[in-house]
Amino acid sequence: MSAAFHGAEYCWMNGEVIRTEEALVSAMEPIYLGIFEGIKAYVEGDILGEGRLNIFQWKPHIDRLWRSAAVCGIKIPYTKEELLETTRETIRANGFRTNVYIQPRIWPKAGTGRYMAEEFHVVIPVWRFETRLGRDNPRFSQERRFMISSWRRISSDALPPQAKAWANYANSGLAAREARRLGYDGAIFLDRRGFVSEGTGACLMIVRDGKVITPPVTASILESVTRGTFLRMLPEDLGIPVEVRDITRVELYASDEAFLCGTGAEVTPITSVDDYSPGRGVSRAHNEADSGVLCRGSGRERGEAQGMADTSMIPLFFSLGTSQGD
Ligand code: PMP
Repeated sequence: MSAAFHGAEYCWMNGEVIRTEEALVSAMEPIYLGIFEGIKAYVEGDILGEGRLNIFQWKPHIDRLWRSAAVCGIKIPYTKEELLETTRETIRANGFRTNVYIQPRIWPKAGTGRYMAEEFHVVIPVWRFETRLGRDNPRFSQERRFMISSWRRISSDALPPQAKAWANYANSGLAAREARRLGYDGAIFLDRRGFVSEGTGACLMIVRDGKVITPPVTASILESVTRGTFLRMLPEDLGIPVEVRDITRVELYASDEAFLCGTGAEVTPITSVDDYSPGRGVSRAHNEADSGVLCRGSGRERGEAQGMADTSMIPLFFSLGTSQGD
């Protein structure tokens, strides 16, 4: 095993910063019963000089980790403040001066009772990532063909999508592999009622007549922190109306634009769904020169960013093919 994991020499495990190569557990560990979070810290300005590395929406992410733990019978043996401090420590230990992905993972220790466990492993790997955001990034504007998965999204009365548990990603894997097998770039789930739900690892938004529409929590989605941020920021800071309601398959096909949003996905334009790309805006979304991609920071979200503050962010980028923007 190489010493570094995605360029990270160090991670945090059960109370201390250790070398990533030493973060080893037994193959008997029930990691599949675990929960996790995916959080990003973005460089603002010049991190080598006066710039800052800001964790995007730490508090809602860590609150969700605690909610996932409650649902999954996991007792986190640290406070939220301790996990923030250990995250800072781990990033500093790695000497990162670039964007950093943070993925706290918690699972029952082997032999401590599995479903009724009282002891848990807490590991915080961090690693570098390259953003796909930005007008000038060709990765942002590339074509992405999606399909509606033949697999339905797991529902809250069976395996709750609101908990960020590894087990839920078995459902995502089925859909993602099906999409690849059939030549698509990704999959979108319908919920058990047949309404649009979410992607395999991101929430979905459509644009229709200048309004952004996204499915409600009751459509079997993870309560995405990015989605929550957009729902506040779009109307309050950018004057763009939003609506949270069920979306039909046909509305998705006929939308002016569609995009995924999430920590990993950031903003991922969808250029077609099941090969339908009827809306002018759908094709505009991948033609960023034309798409009215917004590149705005939110003053409020930026808040009292002090170093790696807990509710800070760097400018967000949106794909929105309307004239309401910059
Ligand atoms: N849905 C699923 C299934 C996800 O895995 C993610 C990524 N965490 C999201 C939505 C987006 O959530 P967030 O904005 O909090 O990253």
